[in-house]
Parts: sequence; C-alpha cells; structure tokens
Amino acid sequence: MILQFFTSLALLGLTGLLVGFVLARKTGGGHDPVSREWLRREASLSRQYRGLFENATDAIIICEPESGIILDCNRKSCEMYDWDRSSLVGSNMTMLIRDHGRYEEETRRVRETEGCSEFCYTHLHKDRHPIKVLVRLAVVEYANQKAVLTSHRDVTQQTELTERLQRRDAILQAVSFAAEKLLSGGDWEASIQSVLERLGQSISVSRAYIFESHPGDGGELLASQRHEWAAPGIAPQIQNKQLQNFSWERNHLKSWMEELQQDKVVQAVVSSLLEPARGHLEGQDIKTLIVVPIFVSNKWWGFIGFDDCLGARQWSSVETEALRAAARTIGAALHRRQSDENLRKADELVKAVVEASPEAITALDAEGVVRMWNPGAERLFGWTAPEVLGGPLPYVPPEERERHQSLVARTANGEQLSNVELCRRRKDGQQVEFQLSTARMLDAEGNVVAYLGVMNDISERKRAEERLRCYTAELEEARDLQEQKTQELTTALEELSVAKGRAEAASRAKGEFLTNMSHEIRTPLNGILGMSELLLETPLSAEQSGFLAMLKASTETLLALVNDILDFSKLENQKIALETIEFKLPEALGDALKSLSNRASLKGLKLACSVAPEVPEYLIGDPGRLRQIILNLVGNAIKFTEKGEVEVRVEADSRSEGHAGLHFTVRDTGIGIAPGKQQAIFGAFEQADSSTTRRYGGTGLGLAITSHLVKLMGGRIWVESSLGQGSRFHFTLRLGLGRNPDGSFSAESAHRHLLQEERGKLRVLLAEDDPVNQALVARLLEKRGHTVEVVEDGKKALDAVGTPPDTPYDLLMMEMHMPGMNGEECVARIRARERGSDTRIPIIALTAPARNEDPERFLALGMDGYLAKPVRAEQLLATIDGLLPLPIGSAGENSRDLENHPSEPPGREASR
Ligand code: ADP
Repeated sequence: MILQFFTSLALLGLTGLLVGFVLARKTGGGHDPVSREWLRREASLSRQYRGLFENATDAIIICEPESGIILDCNRKSCEMYDWDRSSLVGSNMTMLIRDHGRYEEETRRVRETEGCSEFCYTHLHKDRHPIKVLVRLAVVEYANQKAVLTSHRDVTQQTELTERLQRRDAILQAVSFAAEKLLSGGDWEASIQSVLERLGQSISVSRAYIFESHPGDGGELLASQRHEWAAPGIAPQIQNKQLQNFSWERNHLKSWMEELQQDKVVQAVVSSLLEPARGHLEGQDIKTLIVVPIFVSNKWWGFIGFDDCLGARQWSSVETEALRAAARTIGAALHRRQSDENLRKADELVKAVVEASPEAITALDAEGVVRMWNPGAERLFGWTAPEVLGGPLPYVPPEERERHQSLVARTANGEQLSNVELCRRRKDGQQVEFQLSTARMLDAEGNVVAYLGVMNDISERKRAEERLRCYTAELEEARDLQEQKTQELTTALEELSVAKGRAEAASRAKGEFLTNMSHEIRTPLNGILGMSELLLETPLSAEQSGFLAMLKASTETLLALVNDILDFSKLENQKIALETIEFKLPEALGDALKSLSNRASLKGLKLACSVAPEVPEYLIGDPGRLRQIILNLVGNAIKFTEKGEVEVRVEADSRSEGHAGLHFTVRDTGIGIAPGKQQAIFGAFEQADSSTTRRYGGTGLGLAITSHLVKLMGGRIWVESSLGQGSRFHFTLRLGLGRNPDGSFSAESAHRHLLQEERGKLRVLLAEDDPVNQALVARLLEKRGHTVEVVEDGKKALDAVGTPPDTPYDLLMMEMHMPGMNGEECVARIRARERGSDTRIPIIALTAPARNEDPERFLALGMDGYLAKPVRAEQLLATIDGLLPLPIGSAGENSRDLENHPSEPPGREASR
C-alpha cells in the first residue's frame, strides 16, 4: 500500500514535469530533424505518461488552485465517483466533497508551500454515499499554469476495519474492566455502575442495564430493572415503574424469556416488533436492543441489555461475544457476591453462637496470643475481653505453664483434646474447675493459625459428685444394713413358711378327718333314721311309738350337728363351691319356709313372708345355699320365739347392670339377744348364754355357717335386737339378674312342669349297687306311690332306659360310682341316644358327700338334680319337688306374701 502510494506520488511528479516540458517545447519549437526527432520522442514520452496517468490505480484529478475547477481526471476518478469524465472536467471539486473547509485549507497550504499534503477525507459518491478517501495534494505545472494535483485512494473498507478493530478493543477492554472491577470485591453498586457505563460506551449504545428475574405473587416469572447507565442526552429508565415486575407474558415477550433461559442472545429492531412489546419499547425511545442472559451457578438469573435510541443497528458477532463474556463475568460476580453474603451470614451466625454460648470459647494465635475471648470466658474466669485480647492467657500460673504448653503442643500436632479436666484461679483468686476441649485451625497451606479452646465450668458438678460420693457411701452402709435385715427377714419368712405349711397340713388333715368322720357317722345315722321311719309305719304300741319318735328326733339332731360340722369344716377350708344357676326367688323362699311352717304352727306362731314388688323374680346364684341361710335364720327365729310372729322380708337394695342387691330381714318377737352378745353369736360354737343349749338345743354353729355363706355370696349379715323384744337379722346378697323380660320359661322349667303334671305316679328307675341304699330309696319312693325298678350297674340302667321315645321311666336316679359302667358314662350314652328326639328323661345323681363332687359338673354332664347320700326322705322328696317347684301365692298390693302352709315335720336340715 505504502509502495503504491509513493509510486503514485512519483507518477504525479513525472506527469507534472512531462506536461510542463511538452508545453514549453511547443511554445518555442522549430521543425529541424533534431527538433522533429525530439518532438517525436517527446510525443512518445507524453503518450507513455498519459498512459500511466490514465491507468494509475488511484483516482487523479487536476484542478485549478483558486477556483477548484477540475481540469483533468483519470479513469479511476470516473470509476471511484461514478461520474463520466465530461461531467467531472469543468466542474468544481466541491461536487465530490461534503465538507469543504479542511480541503480548502490544505489546498492553500500546499499552494503556498509548493509542497504536498496528505490527509483522510470523506468524499461523496455520485449517489451521495460517503467514501473514505486518502487524499494527496501537490502543486504541479499543468498547461503552463499552476494546478493542484489531487490523488485519491478509497480507504473506506480499510477505515471501517480499523474502526471495527478499535471498537472491539474498546469492548474487550470494557469486558476486562468489568472482570477486574466486579471480581475485586469493592462497592458493588459503584462497580456495577461503572461497568455498565464502560460497556455502554465501548459499544456506543444509549443505555446499558441489568434486569433480575424473579417469581411474582402468582408464581409467574417477572423481571425488574436493578441497574442502569444512560448516555448523555438519553432519558434514564431506572425510575420507570413499568420496568419493575415486568411481565414477559403480558407484553407478549415470553418467547424472549424462553430464549434467554436457553442461554440465547435476543436482538430486536423495535419497529419490526408487534404490539404491545413495540409500544412498550418505543415508549423508551428504543430503536434497537440487544439482551444477553446472565446465569448464576448455571441457573438463569436475569440479563444485561443495551438500547440504541439513535437508529437501527446490527450487532456484530464481536460485540455479541464480548457482551456474552461481560454477562458471564457479571454472573460470576453475582455468584461470588451471593457466596460472600452466605459466608457473611455464616460468620455472623458463628459469632452469635460464640457470643451466646454458655461455654467459655477462646482462640489463641500460633504465638499463644489471645485472639478470641467470649462472654462465656468472661463469666468463667472473670477477665473481660479488652483485658485479655492481645496478651497471653491470663489464668495460667507459672507452675502450670509447662502443662499448658504440652496441651498446646498436642493440639498443634492435630490431637483434639476432649474434656481434659483442669483447675485454675479466676481473676478474683477463686479456684475454678473446668473441662477443656481443643482444636487447631489451619490456613490453606496447612499452617496453624489458631488454637480453639472450649471450656465449661464443672465446679458445681464436682461439688455435686462429692456430695453424691458421701450419699453413696451412706447408702451403701444403709444397704448393707438393709441386706442384713432382709436376710433376717428371709430367714423369719422361711421359718414362717415352714410353720404355715405345717399349719396348713394340720388344717387339711383336720378337715379331712372331720369330713371322713362326719361321713362315717352319717351313714349309720342315716340307717337308724331310715329304719326308724319305716318302723314308725308298722303297728306299734303308744309307748313304742313315743320311744321311736324320740329316737328319731335325737338322731335327727345328731345328724344336723354332723351336717353343720361338715359344712363348717368345708367353709373354713374354702371347699364349698357355689352354684350359679337361674332360680325363681319366690320358689326358693317357698321351699325353705314350707319345711318350717309346720314347726311355726305347732308353736302357734305366725310365719309370714313378703317380697317387695321391685325385687326381681328370676335371679342367678345358688338357691340351695340361699335356702340354707333362710332355714337357719328362720329356724332360729322360731326356736327362740314363744309367741307372736316370724317374718321374712325381701327388699331390693340396689341394682346394677346384670346384678341385683337384695336385703333380707328375718324378724321375730322372741327372747332377743343381749347387746354384748350380738357380735359373738356369729362365731363358731357361740351362743348368747350358757343355758341356751339346755333350753333350746343347738350347737352354736348355725350363724357361723350362715355368716360364711352370706360373705361367700357377696353380702354381709348383722343383727338388731334387745332382750325380750325380739330380733331382726339382716343380710344382703348380690345375685345375678336372670330371665328375659318376656317371662318365657326355660326348657328345664317346662320339663319340670310336665313332670309335675304327671307326678301323681312316677315310674322311677334306680341304678344303685349298694343293697341298703337300694332298699331305702326304693321304699321311700314306693311309699309316695311311685313305682321303682332297681338295677345295679350302668350297663343295665342303659338297657332298661331303652331308646327314646320308648323310654318306660319318668325318672332315673343313679349312683355315680358303680362298678362296670359308671354313672357318668351311662348318662352320657342316654343323652346321646336322646339327641334329636323330644324325649329327655330327668336324672338325679346320687353320690357320697365325702367325694366333694362339684354340682355344676353334674349339671354339665346332663343331670337335672343332685342328691348326696345318705338319702333322707325329706331330701329325696324335696329334690324331686325341686324339679317341680311349688308356686308361691301373692297377697297384698305391694308384696308377695307367703303364709304358713302345713308341711313336713320340724327339724333343721341342710338342703343337700
Ligand atoms: P344354735 O342356734 O345352734 O345355738 P346359732 O349359731 O344358730 O346356734 O345361734 C347362736 C346363738 O345365737 C344361739 O344359741 C342363740 O343364743 C342366739 N340366737 C340366734 N338366733 C336368735 C334369735 N332369733 N333370737 C334370740 N337368740 C338367738
């Protein structure tokens, strides 16, 4: 290029000279051969130079110095400015120039100095578009006059390239400025402002700004302007409310947001946009804009944007890439700012924790100088932070320095000391005990920068431990003592247990003895009684009948005594199990009173019974034992009353779900009981006075048994009495509620009813292996008009009963313990045969009481009743009647009364 330039310049000179020379020769020339030759050569040279002039690569224009009128021009001139030669020659140079000033000035200077000048200038194409031109001016001789030769070289492209490079350099410098400014960590607001200014200036825009993306209330992503720089003369938009919480969606610019999210640069010429985006941007005078996304930690954060308010503009790739680099730098700076902020918050947190910590926290630097001393340390040691910071640890006395150093050294070696117990003096001289834990802090190179110590006061704990040690010692002493006592107690208990075992064994032996004895006594007594009854029915003299009656009465008394002793013994040994069956209270009362009514009427006493209407009729419990209690109390009342009446009253006491509490009162108008004896009479063998046995008989066991039974049945018994005024024996019972309210009868009752209908003459099968019992029971039954057939074992009984419905008997009485097939098996087979038929023969079990059979078990086996041997006439008939209860009549409005009925002979009997 430079070479071309000088060639042109030389050519210019030569052309000038040539023209001058040719013109000079013409003016003074002759026509001699030399001259002609010279002229020919001259002409040839002139053509050559003309050729050079015409074909020069630069445009060459020769014009008049004063007027600027173009005298000549070469082909390149015509090409460069698109004028033909005829248009150019004769025209003024100014047609090619936009601004004349500088041009005229340079021309004058060249003219005056006769030198040459070179400068860049903007010329105009024929179509008026500007052309950057490197102009050279020189004064030359042209047609015998001074002329200005101008050489023009089109440097438009070269200039543009240079400008582009300069702009790129400026942008890159702005980008590196941004990196330096933003990452140096100075004032963020000021830094970002200067960066925007520098970037904006480097790419010659009207505004540069940063928007942050954030979610709005409805979750939609919005954008808000955070920073802005505006070029002089351009209206800033930082106060523009529309640029806060800017909705991409409402402005139909969602696609821009999506592109930015995908890390794409958005460029737009505003005039080509659609409404409402266009109106929105034109409102800010924007003609062109470019928006570059900012990402922070790979997450879209927002964008940096640049507005050009002057004209439509194309953004070069250099600009775009530079702006991307700037956006990345801003993203990195934001990330660092966020991290710094997090770090600052973490620092503040740590500081707050250290300040608030109840423990003493200290830090020493590598030289052992105190750098941290928190309020906990102030509390523990008494020195304040200002007193300690910058100096050595104040609480290490000279004698402890070595130990202290060794602890520091261990920590320096990486050991984390944990709960090392130390004792030091506080500022006020008091001793303080504490636990120390340490850690070292290293810098990036691994050098120790600090030793951290955490201490907590254990003085109180130590004191407590000491107290605990004392207590423990005392406790151990007490424990030893206690152990000794326990040992003694254990020995005593063992002895007691042995004694108890012995006592229990003795009691058992006594019980068994009593049971066996009573059984052994009852068997012959029963024989005597049975035979006396049979004998009484044979023809006898009056005297014999009298003796026999006395014999029978004495035997009955003896039997009652034996029964009482047996009962009492069982109750004491808790061998009595209560039945839990449904029964009808009036019937149970009727049964008991019926057997006593005769005795009452013999003494001329009125015997009354009333049951309050609210008393449930059907109850669940042990009716036999209830009968026994009534028999006992009413029997006593009759015995100890000479005239007047005996009354039994039943009232409802309470009622809870499934249970009824009953209150029984047995009132008499007899001799009464002295207050001092009212408690004692409930004990065994206790009587109100010593003459009682003589006058009234009895053993003193009845009330003891009654009171046991009442307790067993969940009640209590007491007496109200005064001598000569009669007595009131009260007892309460807690019984289950029976019977559904519709009053339907159970199958068992229905069966009894049937039996009762037909009981005029029962066909009874007696299965019994003992001949005495066979004879006794058969005789008793036959005496009542029943027919009896006897078999001696279960097998025969089974055969005799036959197959339902052809059973020839109304009742089966069966000894349970027979040789061969026993009663249990026999009953099971009979019931098995009956299954599926309407027939069910009633069965009464016979067994010896000494065996302690469980009546519940018999019922479960399919029996209907139970009779303990020896069988007494009354018991036998009562049991059969028990299956066929007598109805109780009702009297009065509010009660069910039972007046005395003629009945069996007197005598207290247990019902079983
Ligand atoms: P027993 O009647 O066989 O002597 P109990 O235990 O039944 O034995 O009665 C104990 C004593 O209580 C009786 O001996 C009698 O002195 C006194 N006693 C019991 N019931 C009455 C009563 N209704 N009236 C007066 N005294 C009674």
